[in-house]
Amino acid sequence: MQIRNGEDLISLCREKKLPIHQLMLEYECFKSGKEPAAVYEEMRSHLLVMKKSVYQGLNEKLTLKGKIIGGEAKKLQRRSQNAKPVCGYTMSRAISFALSVTEVNAAMGRIVAAPTAGSCGVLPGVLFGLAETFELQEDRQVEGLFTAGAVGLVIAKNASLSGAAGGCQAEIGSASAMAAAAVVEIMNGSPEQALHAGAIAIKNLLGLVCDPVAGLVEVPCSKRNVVGTANALTAAEMALAGIESAIPFDEVVTAMYQVGCALPPTLRETSEGGLAVTPTGRRLKKEILG
Ligand code: SF4
Repeated sequence: MQIRNGEDLISLCREKKLPIHQLMLEYECFKSGKEPAAVYEEMRSHLLVMKKSVYQGLNEKLTLKGKIIGGEAKKLQRRSQNAKPVCGYTMSRAISFALSVTEVNAAMGRIVAAPTAGSCGVLPGVLFGLAETFELQEDRQVEGLFTAGAVGLVIAKNASLSGAAGGCQAEIGSASAMAAAAVVEIMNGSPEQALHAGAIAIKNLLGLVCDPVAGLVEVPCSKRNVVGTANALTAAEMALAGIESAIPFDEVVTAMYQVGCALPPTLRETSEGGLAVTPTGRRLKKEILG
């Protein structure tokens, strides 16, 4: 079985009459030689780590490395408890979960780097935000992880998942595309709709630079996870409504790769450009690193 790009993914799904998540499970078994139950259990264990991290930042006092961020997840949760969230309940919960996971990461806690530590909040934020509203069973969330994995695999093969190589579009953009596709399949959308959602999600974040203040995965990373989460939900909603990406998924991924290559090194995780070199970015760096 060969999955080189989105086109392969869709033709295999059509040929085998399977959703992406089932195809991905088959692919993993094929690649690893493991039994489906073992592969599924491994994915489930990732979901359990995510589950812990989405609540940890909301319920525990964390000691964060750079101390630039911290406590934002709780603030958002408090607001959604005391006021009607302007972005609706599902979105509000999803983004507070995303923030929570990024705070756990900044506190050197346990997260799932899916696809990277910097973008670790998007997928769990979306999956657990959706789970609360739609009372999803655990197996639906695990299936969502397989869908997300397939999209991540295609991006990794044709572009990059790393901020150092492709800018933040490669991290938050990819995470958002993975999450958007997962939402579509969880909500019974087709494989084609899942890739449209993924394409829309990447397009919205194309060109996003990587410019972490003081070289820490805190600012702007944490709030970009919120944007990636919101973007995933809106992209999925559009795709589920039958809205298509005018540019096909594989072409969007190629464009992301080319944009990443065109970014100067100062905007690719070196902390030598963008927000990292603003007066405040420099001051924070001095305060943290001396
Ligand atoms: S700004 Fe850079 S380090 Fe931060 S999440 Fe984006 S890619 Fe990762």
